[in-house]
Amino acid sequence: MITGGAGFIGSNFIPTILESMKDAQIVNLDKLTYAGDLKNLESVSGNSRYTFIQGDICDRKLVADIFETHEVNNVIHFAAESHVDNSIDSPATFIETNIIGTFVLLETAREKWTQSQESRTFNRFHHISTDEVYGSLGAEGYFSEATPYAPNSPYSASKASADFLVRSYGKTYDLNVVTSNCSNNYGPGQHDEKLIPTIIRKALAGEAIPIYGNGTNVRDWLYVGDHCKALELVFSNGKDGETYAIGGEDEMSNLTIANTICGIIDRKTGRPPGSSAGQIEFVQDRPGHDYRYAIDSAKITANLGWKPEVSLQQGLELTIEWYIDKYQKV
Ligand code: NAD
Repeated sequence: MITGGAGFIGSNFIPTILESMKDAQIVNLDKLTYAGDLKNLESVSGNSRYTFIQGDICDRKLVADIFETHEVNNVIHFAAESHVDNSIDSPATFIETNIIGTFVLLETAREKWTQSQESRTFNRFHHISTDEVYGSLGAEGYFSEATPYAPNSPYSASKASADFLVRSYGKTYDLNVVTSNCSNNYGPGQHDEKLIPTIIRKALAGEAIPIYGNGTNVRDWLYVGDHCKALELVFSNGKDGETYAIGGEDEMSNLTIANTICGIIDRKTGRPPGSSAGQIEFVQDRPGHDYRYAIDSAKITANLGWKPEVSLQQGLELTIEWYIDKYQKV
């Protein structure tokens, strides 16, 4: 079972895993909130090894029925409310989906695990989490698997809670669990609300490009295709009970990324150099805005042989082409 597979990362992951795991049967449980879009899964909708079910991970009966009907023996859990700004305005759904929803999935997996210890028909619960659980960095240093948790937004606090629940089901019930904490993803299929799609969309439309504060906040950017490869390795070869930090090794301030995107858009659309960057406008900073995220991915590199392959410059070119194509079709 994949949860939240109609979202940005899940919809990039499902075609990849159907292609590389030829015997995988996938059931995708997604509520189709504003963030889910089945258009991103058109390439797999006719695949006989893929089933889509619209529903809520908080619905215990539905989740139990799917486990039973589809003989679920692995869960890869993407479903979440994922936008920090929304968590500041209305945290309740973040608590529901990210904490209660994860609990429901864990409980259902535990029931299957404890019922079937002889035959071992439940294999693994892979929880997809974020580096935001570690809080904020200053100008120096990196997050790693050993960094103490210090979440600052309702979003990151809800993800941290889910991470702890997952950990506890491993320790207490011996459920086979693995968690990956990644940095900011970008690439085709991301919801318009996120930073990179917003910059691209506003730049293309000739509108003001909003940048929080003075734009000096730094993020580590991970191309979604690289992330999907890392997830497959963590799911297949990660060690039971471990966590893996996954970073793109490409840090950039928000202002620099906006200027870089504007430069690529000027080139691709034949605008005079520097013209899109003139649309950048600073807006009031996000409350509790974390200053910097950066990840030391040494563990996943050493243990699972993963390294990011797509540089931020290459990934932005690919992403901008995808959005230009998307907006031209609208
Ligand atoms: P997204 O917001 O694009 O997609 C989330 C998906 O979950 C949507 O399809 C939505 O319909 C579904 N969903 C939401 N609530 C649900 C519910 N109650 N029941 C069933 N489905 C529900 O998110 P994303 O960017 O693809 O992120 C996927 C996961 O990766 C999340 O757990 C997120 O916390 C984590 N993550 C994302 C990033 C990032 O940069 N995008 C970084 C770190 C971690």
